[in-house]
Amino acid sequence: MKLVTFSTGEKPEIGRVEGDSVVRLAPRVGSMIDLINSWSQVEVEARRATGLLVPLKDVRLLPPISRPGKILAIGLNYADHIRETGAEIPKKQVWFCKQPTAVNGPFDPILLPKVSTQVDYEAELVVVIGRRGRYISRQDAPAYVFGYCVGNDVSARDLQMATSQWVLGKSFDTHAPFGPWITTTDEVADPHSLGIRSFVNGEKRQDSNTQNFVFDVWDQIAYVSQVMTLEPGDLIFTGTPGGVGMAMNPASFLQDGDRVRIEVDRLGALEAVCRRED
Ligand code: ZN
Repeated sequence: MKLVTFSTGEKPEIGRVEGDSVVRLAPRVGSMIDLINSWSQVEVEARRATGLLVPLKDVRLLPPISRPGKILAIGLNYADHIRETGAEIPKKQVWFCKQPTAVNGPFDPILLPKVSTQVDYEAELVVVIGRRGRYISRQDAPAYVFGYCVGNDVSARDLQMATSQWVLGKSFDTHAPFGPWITTTDEVADPHSLGIRSFVNGEKRQDSNTQNFVFDVWDQIAYVSQVMTLEPGDLIFTGTPGGVGMAMNPASFLQDGDRVRIEVDRLGALEAVCRRED
C-alpha cells in the first residue's frame, strides 16, 4: 500500500494512492503516526476503504510524517561515495541526526540558507519504523519496519565540514524532503535491490543500487537500537551513493532555481526547486 499525507487546501488528511488518485481514509485515522501505531487494527479497513477519490494532481503531498520523533542517518554507506570523499570504509557505523524541523514535502522548495554557499543533494532510501523496540536483532529487524520512502539528505557542506560533528550542516529547515508516500513493506520484498538515482536540471548525477550498501538496513536497525528505543514513525536515512556535487571536479553545489529529482525503484520520486532564502 502507498500511504500519503495530503491536503486539498484545508487540514492534512491521510490517504491511499491508487493509480493517479488518492483514496481518502476515514478522518478517525488521525495522523500517519497514529495510523502506524494502530496498523494491526486498521490495515484491513485501510486496504478496503473506498472513500472519496481525489486526483493526485489536485492535492498537495505533504511530508508523509509531519513530525517524526527522530531522523537518524548513516554516513559513508556506499563504497563509491566513500571513495569520492577520500574516507576509508568505516569499521563502525557512522551515525548523525537530522532535526525533525528539517522535514519537507516531496515537491516543496528546498531553501538555500543565507549562511551556506555549498548546499548539496544526497539520494537516499528512507526506512520508516513501524514498532517500538530496543536491542532489536538483525534477524528480527524486518518486523520493525513499516515501510520505505525516497529521501534527499540535503547537506550544507560548508557547515558540515567545518567541524567534526555534522548535525548543523544536515539540519537546516527544508533539508529533509521525503516521500512522495510511504510504500508498505508488503510491496518491497527486499530493500537491498532498489535502483537509486538523482538528477539536477535533468542531468543524472547519482545512479546506483541499494545492493551496494556497506551496512544493510537490518544491521543499521540492530546497531542503533542498542543505543535508543526506535519508535513508530522514526526515520532512518540509509546513506547515499557516489556522485554528490561536492565530489565533482570542479565541485558543483545547488543554485537558486535548480531542480533536483531523486528516484528509488518502486518507491516513486521527489522533485524540488531550490530557492535562495530571503
Ligand atoms: Zn546522507
